[in-house]
Amino acid sequence: MSECLRREIADQVSHLQTEKGIVPGLAVILVGNDPASEIYVRNKGNGCREVGIYSETITLPEDTTQTALEAEIDRLNQDQQIHGILVQLPLPKHLDEAAALARILPEKDVDGFHLLNAGKLMTGGIGVTPCTPKGALYMIHQTGMDLSGKQAVVIGRSNIVGKPMALLLLQENCTVTICHSRTKNLPEITRQADILVAAVGKAGFVTPDMVKPGAIVIDVGINRVDGKVRGDVDFDGVKEVAGWITPVPGGVGKMTITMLLQNTLEAAERAGQ
Ligand code: NDP
Repeated sequence: MSECLRREIADQVSHLQTEKGIVPGLAVILVGNDPASEIYVRNKGNGCREVGIYSETITLPEDTTQTALEAEIDRLNQDQQIHGILVQLPLPKHLDEAAALARILPEKDVDGFHLLNAGKLMTGGIGVTPCTPKGALYMIHQTGMDLSGKQAVVIGRSNIVGKPMALLLLQENCTVTICHSRTKNLPEITRQADILVAAVGKAGFVTPDMVKPGAIVIDVGINRVDGKVRGDVDFDGVKEVAGWITPVPGGVGKMTITMLLQNTLEAAERAGQ
C-alpha cells in the first residue's frame, strides 16, 4: 500500500521540479543518541531518497541547550531549500519539547504538532495533519468501507496519535469513543467497534475477545520485546476475528513515513504558489 503511494509522491516530486524548479526539502533534528530515534531518522532519510526529496539530518549532542536547539530551528525556518522541519521526539528531559515545536514555522511543521495545526484539525480547518493518524486513516479508506455512522474506538489519547486520530474519524462522520488507562469495561467498549485503533504502547494488548467479528483493526503500536518489534494487537489471534488488520512491522509505521513525505511535498507545493 505504501509502495503505490510512494510512487505517486515520487511522480509529483519530479513534476514540481520540472514545472517550478522546486525540490522539496526536509530537515530532521536529532538530539542525543537514542538508538530507536536513530533508526526512525534513518528510515525517514531513506524514504526521502526513495521519492526524490532532499533531506538533511542535523545531529545535536545530548547536552544541547534549549537556546542552541531553537537557534537551529530558526536557521531552518529561514532556509529556502527546506520546506519541512521535524524535531525527532522524545527530546532529552532537560529540553522543553512544546517550546521547540512552537518555534517551527507552522507551514514547515510537517509533523503537524504545532499548536496552530492542532487547532486547525480541532476546528475543521486546513492545516498539516499529523503523519501517524493521517496514515492510519488512509489505510482505513483503502478497505473501501463507508465510514459514515460507523462506531470507531480509539485506545489512547496522546496528542500525537490518539486525539488527532479521533478527530479525523469524527470528520469522517464516525461515532467516536476514546479510551485510556482509566476507562472501565474496555473490552465491552472495544467489542462495539467497527473500526478499532490501538495506540497504547503495550505489546499484544488487544486480544481476540476485545474485537467485533469483521472489524477493521489498526495497530499503531511499536513495542520492542526481546529484540523484536511488536504491535499493540495480538496479531495472530485477532486476525481470526477481524475483517481487516494492519501488521507490525510493515503497517502503520511505514505509512507514517509515507505521510511525512506527502506532508513535505505539500509544504513545498504551498511554498511554490
Ligand atoms: P502514549 O504513551 O503517549 O499514550 C498511550 C495511551 O495509551 C495513553 O493515552 C494511555 O492512557 C493509554 N493506555 C495505557 N495503558 C492503557 C490501558 N491499560 N488501557 C487503556 N488505555 C491505556 O503513546 P503514543 O500515543 O505516543 O504511542 C502509542 C503507541 O504507538 C506506542 O507503542 C508508540 O511507540 C506507537 N507509535 C507508533 C507510531 C508509528 O509510526 N506507527 C508513531 C507514534 C507512536 P492515559 O492517557 O490514561 O495514560
